[in-house]
Amino acid sequence: MKKKFYVTTAIVYANAIPHIGYANEVLAADVIARYKRLCGFDTFFLTGMDEHSSNVQQKALSMGLDPKKYCDQMADVYKDVWKRLNISYDDFIRTSQERHIQVVQKILRKIYDKGEIYKGFYEGWYCTSCEAFYLESDLKEGKCPVHKIDPKWLKEENYFFRLSNYQDKLLEIIENNPEFIQPNVRRNEIINIIKGGLKDISISRSTFTWGIPCPFDEKHVVYVWVDALINYVSGVGFVLDKKKFKHFWPADVHIIGKDITRFHCIIWPAMLMSAGLELPRKIFGHGFLKIQGEKISKTKGNIIDPLMLIDEFGVDGLRYFLLRHIPFDTDGDFSLEAMKYRFNSDLANDLGNLLNRSLAMCEKYFNAEVPEPGEELQIDKDLKGQVDITCGKLDEYMARLSFNQALASIWELINKANKYIDTTAPWKLFKEDKQRLATVIHNLIETLRIISIFILPFMPGAAQKMWQQLGLKEPVTKQTIKDATWQGIGKNVRIRKDKILFPRIEVE
Ligand SMILES: [Zn+2]
Repeated sequence: MKKKFYVTTAIVYANAIPHIGYANEVLAADVIARYKRLCGFDTFFLTGMDEHSSNVQQKALSMGLDPKKYCDQMADVYKDVWKRLNISYDDFIRTSQERHIQVVQKILRKIYDKGEIYKGFYEGWYCTSCEAFYLESDLKEGKCPVHKIDPKWLKEENYFFRLSNYQDKLLEIIENNPEFIQPNVRRNEIINIIKGGLKDISISRSTFTWGIPCPFDEKHVVYVWVDALINYVSGVGFVLDKKKFKHFWPADVHIIGKDITRFHCIIWPAMLMSAGLELPRKIFGHGFLKIQGEKISKTKGNIIDPLMLIDEFGVDGLRYFLLRHIPFDTDGDFSLEAMKYRFNSDLANDLGNLLNRSLAMCEKYFNAEVPEPGEELQIDKDLKGQVDITCGKLDEYMARLSFNQALASIWELINKANKYIDTTAPWKLFKEDKQRLATVIHNLIETLRIISIFILPFMPGAAQKMWQQLGLKEPVTKQTIKDATWQGIGKNVRIRKDKILFPRIEVE
């Protein structure tokens, strides 16, 4: 049986407007999923929408819609954006779906029967935007540290989960498994929080109705965060599809933003242990996209619509920039100037020119038929060697989710191939040595074939277009990473030069 790989993103909140920050997270998971498929893994990629809570209920009512209808609309908005961004998710889970509701109730019932849920009163500072209680000490000048708004003092009857039972176990797991929480800066933060002591957490609400009823008390709905976390198991068929669940769980990596590590690295593993389920293998808390140093947010009014960028740079241009320019583990600055610069230098010049020059020469010197190679010189061996180096680096960087370095290593090969043209000077060989010219052109086309496989996870559209222009038949998505080795292009291949892949963008 094929090895499996299960990757998730945080599910997007129904009230949120699609922006470049969410796109960045879902894109990262897409690249991981596509790379794993390329490496032959049976891959499952889950994303979706978090639909419950009083905020969603209120927003829907303010629009004169019932919450379900409102969420239907928002789910369509997001699905459309992900489609335009070429996101290859396998399932889009919505927390209002029956398949999710059943699983949430089943898990809470298990935890309740184990005696780890009890009734009590909760009192504290509550931010209605975060849907979370804060300790006095967490507030910044009396306001929510995230939203900078006044929290409300709330007292309500709640059910509590005995999170405190898991303090020692969690610490042991995290300390013994350096890969469990990544990057290390996030891991250290979580270790410090746990060492500071874990309190039991409230897991129900009784002041509104848009949520999943608690299986042991219908007057309460499940706290939205507890509800949302469970999507990672309901999305792979826990309870309803035992075979699928057994195959894919535990998740190999949860991709999340660095602001929600507390929920994913503490509450979620504790809930899983309490319910008798295996823990995910890795939780990765990525950094944020910023604009001129500021966090992107609705309140800041600096939201950038990914669709607008797709219109200007093309979907592959946007994907490339986000993955190449911004390190995934830390915060990075987004700017249109940088995007234009990268587009022109890396895509139009480096990759685009390599493709165009090679195809034009194959057309001109060999009537578009890829020639067979002759004797091999050292410079040819070096080019071949670079293919293996890139393949190794790609594997290493993808394992660390270092997409920018992975792309940089592909660009080392692209640059090497461009230098290969300059050094071998095919235009001179055309007059002096046709045999040698044939070898050079063959090697260039073969390198481009391999490059189109390497870039497939990052720029699937461009990879396929390149593949077609090289005259190769079955879709590039049918290739595996094993095909990205030097094999020779085969006989009777006719290139099909077509439109320029990345036309330069005018810069004022
Ligand atoms: Zn808040």
